[in-house]
Amino acid sequence: MAEHESLEFGKADFVLLDNVSMEEFMANLKLRFEKGRIYTYIGEVVVSVNPYRAMNIYGRDVIEQYKGRELYERPPHLFAIADAAYKAMKRRNKDTCIVISGESGAGKTEASKYIMQYIAAITNPNQRAEVERVKNMLLKSNCVLEAFGNAKTNRNDNSSRFGKYMDINFDFKGDPIGGHINNYLLEKVCIAFGKDFSCINDGADFKAVADAMKVIGFTGDEIQTVYKILATILHLGNLTFGVDGDVTLIENTKLVSVIRELLSTKEENVEKALLYRTVATGRDVIEKQHTTQEANYGRDALAKAMYERLFCWIVSRINDIIEVRNYDAKIHGKNTVIGVLDIYGFEIFQNNSFEQFCINYCNEKLQQLFIQLVLKQEQDEYQREGIPWKHIDYFNNQIIVDLVEQQHKGIFAVLDEACMNVGKVTDEVFLQGLNTKLAKHAHYTSRKLSPTDKSLEFDRDFRIRHYAGDVVYSVVGFIDKNKDTLFQDFKRLLYNSSNSVLKAMWPEGKLRITEVTKRPLTAATLFKNSMISLVENLASKEPYYVRCIKPNDVKSPLLFEHERCRHQVEYLGLLENVRVRRAGFANRQTYPRFLQRYKMISEFTWPNHDLPSDKDAVKRLLQGCGFDHDVAYGKTKVFIRTPRTLFSLEEQRAEM
Ligand code: ATP
Ligand code: MG
Repeated sequence: MAEHESLEFGKADFVLLDNVSMEEFMANLKLRFEKGRIYTYIGEVVVSVNPYRAMNIYGRDVIEQYKGRELYERPPHLFAIADAAYKAMKRRNKDTCIVISGESGAGKTEASKYIMQYIAAITNPNQRAEVERVKNMLLKSNCVLEAFGNAKTNRNDNSSRFGKYMDINFDFKGDPIGGHINNYLLEKVCIAFGKDFSCINDGADFKAVADAMKVIGFTGDEIQTVYKILATILHLGNLTFGVDGDVTLIENTKLVSVIRELLSTKEENVEKALLYRTVATGRDVIEKQHTTQEANYGRDALAKAMYERLFCWIVSRINDIIEVRNYDAKIHGKNTVIGVLDIYGFEIFQNNSFEQFCINYCNEKLQQLFIQLVLKQEQDEYQREGIPWKHIDYFNNQIIVDLVEQQHKGIFAVLDEACMNVGKVTDEVFLQGLNTKLAKHAHYTSRKLSPTDKSLEFDRDFRIRHYAGDVVYSVVGFIDKNKDTLFQDFKRLLYNSSNSVLKAMWPEGKLRITEVTKRPLTAATLFKNSMISLVENLASKEPYYVRCIKPNDVKSPLLFEHERCRHQVEYLGLLENVRVRRAGFANRQTYPRFLQRYKMISEFTWPNHDLPSDKDAVKRLLQGCGFDHDVAYGKTKVFIRTPRTLFSLEEQRAEM
């Protein structure tokens, strides 16, 4: 019996559950995890549970088993999804994308790496040198980004603090010829002086990173500058301010000369930027001294901004390097894309702030995309094929997406408005704005609006009913994080460096104080815009999904914490996913293709049929096997309702 059918390992596809209930879902997930079967399908979606141990399932031999096969022919695996995406791209000339989601530590980044490795392994059979070079770059760039973008957190030793979308471009032969990376929201609060970042943390490792950078094509000067920026950030962390009378001063002035040296700028400039702010009042330009509090704020903002800018610069340099070079391939040959999205999943902490709000909004957007694509795609195809469509009841979360992003009345709009207030700009003003504008919204409430609600403990709290559950956010910090101000003085300081690499990172420092008129876009607006374009991009591609689950909080390979997992199943919307899948058809194939694969299992079709059409032949075959009740016959394709039928056909085929 095929492994995927053996009950010993549970059901290989959740669609096969006898009843779609949370209990059955969880029992199957647990059984499979305990049997070392970390992957399970929901149709074409892979559900993955982090094994927290090395699995012997990613080797060359396994890659060979999945290469060119159909999804249901082999036990569930990431490779099968990667292969499906690759096949769709190559055979049908479609751009595809693989969306990997799940909470911190669930295994997203590992999954994205296995997918990349698989694609690298199955492409370029002729070992063309140029393609090998590109593949090597793509893999190496990953390791550089991890060094700068990952940090040790209490949830994950190697936690990605940014969302990453990577396009891989393929030529008409199906070989990788380049790529492009987009990053989303490097979580700045976490950076607080970057001490925890792997590139800074492990001094010895910096050499390995520097080597990787060199291989990719960073120049010696660039690598030096990166090193200097990291050192500056660390030194800023040790810098303290004091007061003498009404003068704010730097306590450890020695550090200032070190920083000056690292930034290739004048000492008095560093000191001035840390202690004063240049402001334009009418026609006059004056220098205003910081209070110690302002100086502390400025120093922290500088460290964070330098790190963020460094990271974005590294991404853009990598993009310059891995961009599709071959002009001909770009213009003539067919150039298709597989995108891989590794992005933070839904987050609910004890204390949720602006970052969680952005992350959860991102997940609302992705859920909306999932609903639209899965349901719409199905609907369209049934219509084309003349198959009656049964309405599926599901929760459409567009209302929550609107609550956040709608112009003028959405939460982001209210936040931006509060930030633009001339008078008082405080988190409380923002909260008042929300309460006024959203008082009647079914998915919004706050302490003020629901004073007796126990989950809203503090006056500063508001609550959003997300598709994945209720989340209480604290407004504290929203305004500052959204404004994300870096005093212009710092931008000028860095722009005026004699280090040309550093200078190039800070072009806006060129503006004189009287020329700075435009308000920079807020963090919320930037994030919203990047999410909208991400979703537009994904929507233009054929999507595949990997849903990652973290089985426990202690990184144990043995522990399946039931409640923890159930919660994730809930907010990943997996049960709904199963329901949608079951209401539709698990598989569809054109008649000729179906015959090609299964004609040997029926006397009516083997070796050839004499029926008027392939459609008739497929009907005859399926009637003969007793599967007629589980299929629908479209104009060009046969639709198979349950994967069980497909697995049975596969089995019969294997027995021939
Ligand atoms: P974050 O959102 O914090 O970046 P993540 O979802 O990207 O988290 P990973 O870094 O991919 O999480 O995984 C966390 C750890 O779990 C890995 O460092 C590794 O030890 C283990 N792990 C994840 N997937 C696998 C796997 N398939 N096989 C073995 N170990 C794994
Ligand atoms: Mg990660």
